[in-house]
Amino acid sequence: MDPKKWIDVNAESFQYSLDHFVIPDHYETALSSVLIPHGVIMDRVEKLAKLIVQESTGPLVVCCVLKGGHQFFADLVNYIKKNVTRGGKTVPLSLEFIKVKSYSGETSGEVKLSLTDEECKEFSGKNILIVEDIIDTGKTMVQLLAKLKQYSPESVKVASLLIKKTPLSNGYIPDYVGFAIPNAFVVGYALDYNEYFRDLDHICVISEHGKEKYAV
Ligand code: 5GP
Repeated sequence: MDPKKWIDVNAESFQYSLDHFVIPDHYETALSSVLIPHGVIMDRVEKLAKLIVQESTGPLVVCCVLKGGHQFFADLVNYIKKNVTRGGKTVPLSLEFIKVKSYSGETSGEVKLSLTDEECKEFSGKNILIVEDIIDTGKTMVQLLAKLKQYSPESVKVASLLIKKTPLSNGYIPDYVGFAIPNAFVVGYALDYNEYFRDLDHICVISEHGKEKYAV
């Protein structure tokens, strides 16, 4: 993994105590630590937005992978807009949304994409930026990219807030990455565990108690 491309969050030095941050009462016992505080996430997203504007060659179709990618998508698009209005390069944006379901709880399952043929045809000849929350094995993204390429886009780039350091990786690396994280199940900043924790601002490691409490 290229350390210059992202912030390397390692398990030993980046586990902040829950006591040092504001955590919603209903989640306190369900988490073991804060891995990436919200302020750090925002600062990193601002930088990724700047890189995207600098490197883009024309109008961008920014494509949100729902549901986990929605918070990163919203903040990234806001920062891209600020970069554009700060007198930088002008990058006209249009927004798209894709629903991808690949996990139930912690277990890797079959990847399902919600794209219709009509929706995919809209991508032809366009510069697409896919915005994803996390790359784990890389399976979801490889399948999504293969599907999109059938519709002849001009270019496809991927921004993922997180990439997991896992031996199960298929080697796929996105164009833009916020943080490389340890091989743990993380929640918060729209990443869920069985639909819980999307309303948590920080990216946190779920506790064993949390997994039991919110099991399906
Ligand atoms: P992949 O196909 O790369 O293995 O999995 C990608 C998807 O798995 C992500 O979009 C996300 O929905 C889910 N996922 C993988 N690891 C985590 C994790 O640590 N936390 C959460 N909330 N979702 C994860």
